[in-house]
Amino acid sequence: KPGKPIEDVKRELGLSEVIKLASNENPFGFSNFAKSAIQEQLQQINYYPDGASVELTSALATHLLVKPEQLIFGTGSSDIILMIARAFLTLEDETIMAEETFSQYKHNAEVENAIVVEVPLVDGKHDLVAMQAAITERTKIIWICNPNNPTGTIVTNEELVAFLDKVPDHVMVVLDEAYGEYVEDPSFSNGIQLLDKYHNLVLLRTFSKIYGLASLRIGYGIGDPEIIAYINQVREPFNTTRLAQVAAKAALADDAFLSYCREQNRAGIDFINQELERLGLDYFPAHGNFVMFDAKRASSEVFQSLLQKGIVARAGWKNYPNWIRISVGTMPQNEKFIAALEQVLQEVTVQ
Ligand code: PLP
Repeated sequence: KPGKPIEDVKRELGLSEVIKLASNENPFGFSNFAKSAIQEQLQQINYYPDGASVELTSALATHLLVKPEQLIFGTGSSDIILMIARAFLTLEDETIMAEETFSQYKHNAEVENAIVVEVPLVDGKHDLVAMQAAITERTKIIWICNPNNPTGTIVTNEELVAFLDKVPDHVMVVLDEAYGEYVEDPSFSNGIQLLDKYHNLVLLRTFSKIYGLASLRIGYGIGDPEIIAYINQVREPFNTTRLAQVAAKAALADDAFLSYCREQNRAGIDFINQELERLGLDYFPAHGNFVMFDAKRASSEVFQSLLQKGIVARAGWKNYPNWIRISVGTMPQNEKFIAALEQVLQEVTVQ
């Protein structure tokens, strides 16, 4: 089960070491700037946080070159997804998303009783043409995850612009860039420069991934001030904590940590890809901090077999019954994963 404490998994399996490569966390920790900010702020936790996150908003607006009123913070970007669904979706509204993408778009749309229209990926990539063709007068929101979780593929800036040009004004496009800071491919560009032209565009970002602050639960949305104001109406007053706010603000200033993580992540992807090739397994081009590959065997069995060897991976996607998603770890973790996978491939029957 995602999120199960690693100590429980170790005890249940009787293993001394279990490596969790299941939730695309940052294996390299987090910024020391954030650590110092948290330590200082510990003296204040008896006081409620600033409900409007004024200091963080101001720092982030400067960092991203956007207006403060274009920003909203959440208890992780998951919270922003929930708020967008609550604010904009209701019974019989339609919402379009890829068939294999981050689970929370569908979950929150269903909670609001909206009709979920799922569009299959093509070669692990969003099919923006088919997504646009699926728009009706009842469509309210289209969700695009870039890079996509679980496949790790990207849509290019050019593809995105061509798509946005055709999306009618009554449809909001949510572009989830949870892994955007990892992307090095020059055909990708983050959505900020698109916001001026496309007022129906909302970006989602998080401090849980490259910033390594997953357990503090802080993420944000960027969009037109009018849309952000609507989302704000359904926000809980104190939905981000003091520690999260100061840590996020401090982390923004640590470019060296981000560069280090990006480099280590790239080296990890290159290593994993090269080993998958040696093992004769196909994979999608990875642009985030995870790799999805075709194990050519039932993914539930591969998952269980990896787990017995102390590696927690992810499995179980409808159209990819033989595929596994593995988060990039530290190099020793990546090596242990590959060693375990080699054994698994001997043990589990090819489909
Ligand atoms: N969006 C995507 C694509 C994700 O993969 C995740 C987490 O895995 C999130 C959003 C949510 O992250 P958080 O709520 O920690 O910001």
